[in-house]
Amino acid sequence: MDQKVNYFEVGVNAPIDGPLTYVWSNDIIPTGSSVEVPLGRRKVPGIVLNSTDTNVSSFELKNISALIEEKPVLSPKFIKWCQWVSQYYFYPIGMVLNLAFPPLKKKSNRKTKYQVIPDTEETIAPNLTDEQKNTLAEIKKHDGFNTHLVHGVTGSGKTEVYLNLIADCLKKNKSAIVLVPEISLTPQLLNRFSARFKDKVAIIHSQLTAREKTNQWWAAFSDEKPILIGARSALFCPIKDIGLIIIDEEHEPSFKQEEKLKYHARDAAIVLAKIHDCPIVLGSATPSLESYNQAKSGKYIYHQMNKRVHQDVMPETFVVDLKKERETREIENTNHDDLPFWLSQKLYDQIGKSLNANKQSALFLNRRGVAQIVMCPDCGFVYECPNCEISLTLHRKKDLTCHYCDYSQVLKDRCPSCQSIEIKPLGIGTEKVESDIKKLFPNATVARVDRDKVSNRHQLEEIITGMENKSIDILIGTQMIAKGLDFQHLQTVGLVLADVAFNLPNFRSNERSFQLITQVSGRAGRNKNDPGVVIIQAYNTDHPSITHALNNDFASFAKEELQMRNSVEFPPASRLALIRFSSSQLDQLETSTTQLKNFCDTYLSRSESKVAVRILGPSQAPLYKLKNVYRHQMLILSPDHQSIHHFCKYLVQNKKKIFSTRVKVLVDIDPVSMM
Ligand code: ADP
Ligand code: ZN
Ligand code: ZN
Repeated sequence: MDQKVNYFEVGVNAPIDGPLTYVWSNDIIPTGSSVEVPLGRRKVPGIVLNSTDTNVSSFELKNISALIEEKPVLSPKFIKWCQWVSQYYFYPIGMVLNLAFPPLKKKSNRKTKYQVIPDTEETIAPNLTDEQKNTLAEIKKHDGFNTHLVHGVTGSGKTEVYLNLIADCLKKNKSAIVLVPEISLTPQLLNRFSARFKDKVAIIHSQLTAREKTNQWWAAFSDEKPILIGARSALFCPIKDIGLIIIDEEHEPSFKQEEKLKYHARDAAIVLAKIHDCPIVLGSATPSLESYNQAKSGKYIYHQMNKRVHQDVMPETFVVDLKKERETREIENTNHDDLPFWLSQKLYDQIGKSLNANKQSALFLNRRGVAQIVMCPDCGFVYECPNCEISLTLHRKKDLTCHYCDYSQVLKDRCPSCQSIEIKPLGIGTEKVESDIKKLFPNATVARVDRDKVSNRHQLEEIITGMENKSIDILIGTQMIAKGLDFQHLQTVGLVLADVAFNLPNFRSNERSFQLITQVSGRAGRNKNDPGVVIIQAYNTDHPSITHALNNDFASFAKEELQMRNSVEFPPASRLALIRFSSSQLDQLETSTTQLKNFCDTYLSRSESKVAVRILGPSQAPLYKLKNVYRHQMLILSPDHQSIHHFCKYLVQNKKKIFSTRVKVLVDIDPVSMM
């Protein structure tokens, strides 16, 4: 009998663009199977993508080393999705597929020491409000794939809508995926899901141990737990029969992964839903302009929820002009002197009122540390990081640290340049807010939440408990705590300096500010008997992000902002890709930049109108030097994604011709951070 030889295309877990062909003569390997293959001198894991009995390769082919049977076979739908992810985000197919598996091997006894999902008493669903009923009915009216945008103010009961949709999905014997920002995966949220669905919930996030992650993965994969809640990476769990995907807080930038595979979980989830022909629901109180625009154009189905479930009044909101505040203080020169420059009389009084009423306050500021910059007024010297082109931030009394690398040094009493003793910290950070507040309210219990103070889930949970049992009076934090946390006794919310986000070098800075101000305000008034007070301090009080957020007027904000984006042809009016190239060797980077310019000129002069792209740059990145690496970048814009893809593909193919070997190149499609 003739020996039958089969050829298999394998996506290998290595930085290689396409699949490689291998031979396996024992028997047929089903598509989606895990194998081990030789690559150079190594053996690497891979996934079989295709098989034929004719050899199309002109090379001598190697044999597949082994068939890995303990890894489950990936479904054609999942593979199709991975292929889309690979092509769209310019990431090797084998490396995308490799993300599908849990970190450890399956164990038969899956009991672990820690309980990942809290045990809760089962609750029954409440009677829905009219808005919830309408939204639910509208969503259910549409069969198969559709993208729904649920635009509902904080507390309007979006989560309850999700819970109902999930219940429906389970009735059809299908699985549901719920993606939330990592920080929202609190016991509070998990409680709500497990209270309704008991042990049907699996969860995947970055703080689980490898064993916990592996166990949760298997539970979700095997349909033992048909609901998977997770941060963005949960999308890579190859669940077979997906009937519903929910993306909560869809506007959150954290859905975009910024390293390695630079995918956007919301966008990739929409493609996954399409492949499974199931609905996907994007929810937010402040939708991204991308999603809002799609909804307006009719591509997404738009649902609005304008009322809070428990009350019709939103918190009372005030804006304080810090410029005027300062002028008044200078004129009056009275007891206001006791207040630090960042704290208005109004906010100070309001915190005091809440304390007296045994209620809580929270202060938000998107800056860590004591001061942003330490500067000498005599000679202009500024402490800078020697590895990055960035000023050092002051922490504690004398620790100068770089927020981008590990560098730190001690602050000296005299200016290192002119020996002046006048050198001093400028600006404000959460640490300074904390120490000032402790001095002003010595009897209050103050807690701080930022990346310096809270580095893991356990610490965050302690603070949440402290807020719930009222052992904390005043909470101070970065935007970390502005998301999704509900506290019953929180009465006063202060945004210390709303201007912080306006001036970031990103075309989305207005949008981010609007979202932040709205989200922060939404933290107050979670108690129906006490709508709460929000105080927004700013220097530019008439900034549209503030005025529209104040009026709860998303539509007007979006209209103005969209007009602006249209006029400059930036997303969502246009599609965008970012090419970043970097090197520790400045001369090599500059040579490559010149070659890249020539490449672009040639491309533009050759290409017909159907591949029209607009190219901005190449030029220095806003963070020009990071960790001793110099960074340049270039933006590619076009109304249609195909043109961008065409350009990027051509660029990647010609990478070796344009860039010298010491220059690292990366392509970021639909970039979020552009620093
Ligand atoms: P959102 O997700 O829009 O911020 P939630 O779903 O968290 O809103 O709802 C806000 C609060 O109202 C929650 O405490 C929730 O339990 C409660 N809630 C939601 N829907 C109802 C309802 N139909 N009846 C009573 N309480 C509800
Ligand atoms: Zn000096
Ligand atoms: Zn640095």
